Amino acid sequence: MSLPLHRSASDRAAPAPKGLKRDQVTAAEWSDWHWQLRHRLTRAEDLEAFVTLTEEERRGVALAPDLFRVGITPYYASLMDPARADCPVRMQVIPLAREERIARGEYVDPLGEDGLSPVPSIVHRYPDRVLLLALDRCAVYCRHCNRRRLVGQDDGVISVPQLETALDYIRGTPQIRDVLISGGDPLTLSTDKLEWIVSSVRAVEHVDIVRIGTRVPVALPMRVDDELCAMLRKYHPLYINTHFNHPKEVTPEAIEACTRLADAGIPLGNQTVLLRGINSEAAIIERLNRLLLKMRVKPYYLFQGDPVQGTDHLRTPVGAGIEIMERLRGRITGMGIPQLVIDAPGGGGKIPIGPNYLMAWGNEQLTLRNYENKVVTYVEPAERDCRCTYDQGC
Ligand SMILES: *Cc1c(COP(=O)(O)O)cnc(C)c1O
Ligand code: SF4
Repeated sequence: MSLPLHRSASDRAAPAPKGLKRDQVTAAEWSDWHWQLRHRLTRAEDLEAFVTLTEEERRGVALAPDLFRVGITPYYASLMDPARADCPVRMQVIPLAREERIARGEYVDPLGEDGLSPVPSIVHRYPDRVLLLALDRCAVYCRHCNRRRLVGQDDGVISVPQLETALDYIRGTPQIRDVLISGGDPLTLSTDKLEWIVSSVRAVEHVDIVRIGTRVPVALPMRVDDELCAMLRKYHPLYINTHFNHPKEVTPEAIEACTRLADAGIPLGNQTVLLRGINSEAAIIERLNRLLLKMRVKPYYLFQGDPVQGTDHLRTPVGAGIEIMERLRGRITGMGIPQLVIDAPGGGGKIPIGPNYLMAWGNEQLTLRNYENKVVTYVEPAERDCRCTYDQGC
């Protein structure tokens, strides 16, 4: 059988992947997630099997090992436009020489996570929830990654003793009600290893919900198999947040992955990062969010790019995001409107930003504008006491 590179989307005109010895790749191998991880593209020669590299990309790939590793599943590479360097898939994973530049206001650790880590592998910024960084491997290494200082170092899983220490911290901190398992990409762990982590977190009595952040449905959708879904559904309430950035990523394979997760009863959210020239127009975000809703994924956050070193060329002016939000309101259901946030540099948490609809407020009366810029007045009620007497003393 030949490599099924062209099976599902008309714009998938990837050439025969020479480096992968096309004739030797079977459909069974292609749909095997271990095979996909083992055959990630890392070098210019590997990439040349899928795309014609530009000079800037070639220099980027040469520089990258010292900056942030390159790794792309053959599946994700098959979504690339072979001829155009402005392809939104290509731009997310093939480095440019410009990554070498450090712009004003950029940091190694833009969110100050290292300073919020009471024990290794835990980031504790908000009182009621923590990040548990379970491994540093991902299916693909995104050029905009805000954790590039940690991710992809040795492609490994954090050691069991280190994870035990992190779990002990969660066990010993009763304010924690929500554990977000992240990394790296937790769904690239073996099902057994992931089950050990998820079940250990779930077993903590004060933890209400478990969340997993993953790009696997985007970059390695074949990993979402029956074994994984059967395991995850045992640990409800469990939520998954994916990371789709462009409609091109919503392939039949990605739809199948999200459908399986949703059918396992897992509420799905999506976190998109605004990326200049990739998804920085309202029409693209609108199209993406409509596709997400169709596969039962609720757009959750739209992130202004974090100021991580070497990503200046991928970040947008803040006004672009606000304009996108302005254009979404009224044109798509509120279910399809994420919250636009800036994650505060230095570690202040997520700060919502967006268009201002409140024009004036005084004398118990508000002047507002709607999405069509129609001005309306809202008069507040006379009674001001908002105490709820029923619950007093509960
Ligand atoms: C984003 C984030 C969370 C989760 O935030 P939610 O708004 O609850 O999704 C938790 N901890 C840290 C450190 C974060 O960056
Ligand atoms: S999948 Fe997430 S953690 Fe991994 S490189 Fe991409 S953005 Fe970073």
